[in-house]
Amino acid sequence: MKLILLGAPGAGKGTVAKMLTELDGSVQISTGDILRGAVQAGTELGKQAEAYMKAGDLVPDELIMGIMEKRLQEPDCEKGFLLDGFPRTIPQAEALKELLDRLGIKLDMAVNIDVPREVILDRLTTRRTCSNPECQAIYNVKSNPPKVEGVCDKCGSPVVQREDETEEAISHRLETYQEKTAPLVDFYDKEGLLLTVQATSSEAVIDAIKQKLAG
Ligand code: ADP
Ligand code: ZN
Repeated sequence: MKLILLGAPGAGKGTVAKMLTELDGSVQISTGDILRGAVQAGTELGKQAEAYMKAGDLVPDELIMGIMEKRLQEPDCEKGFLLDGFPRTIPQAEALKELLDRLGIKLDMAVNIDVPREVILDRLTTRRTCSNPECQAIYNVKSNPPKVEGVCDKCGSPVVQREDETEEAISHRLETYQEKTAPLVDFYDKEGLLLTVQATSSEAVIDAIKQKLAG
């Protein structure tokens, strides 16, 4: 399947994407994961992105499109892909449309995961992430803690609170979402690709996607 996952930070895009990869071998492509990996590895891309990310600002569209243009042409994308955290602005959505046309790739749909703001705020402040850039497993201190406190179940690396998950950066990220990313819901509605799912459980989101793909 070839999907875009839309939704505020903390809506569950990453969790849903990871669950969908197990269904049919589609790959998860998270621009946030790619950027955090680049920052930790200290690459040129990481150096350019770091300050924006720390402040909860968006990284410039040109940098993101450079990453995605290469990534979408890698062979593992042939089976399908789940775009998690991209596109994030109207110019990115327009550039993606042009890129997919050029590559002859057709999207199945854009899924808008719509979760109430209280739930989002609670999730983001209690979210913890594996610090290993190759892993980036997601935990929650309340609902899904690692078996040993502060240690990733999957790879044993420290589980940490992201630097952009302080209260200040979180509220800034939510504002940025409203201003820059929420308009994509209309964009994909006009393209005839939108599926909105109001659900706070990832399983319910997966079911709605499966149903839509089948029908
Ligand atoms: P979340 O969805 O929880 O906010 P992500 O992991 O998707 O977090 O992104 C973390 C940060 O990486 C963002 O706040 C932003 O600085 C940057 N980023 C990720 N994807 C994009 C994108 N498509 N365009 C611009 N910046 C991005
Ligand atoms: Zn890990």
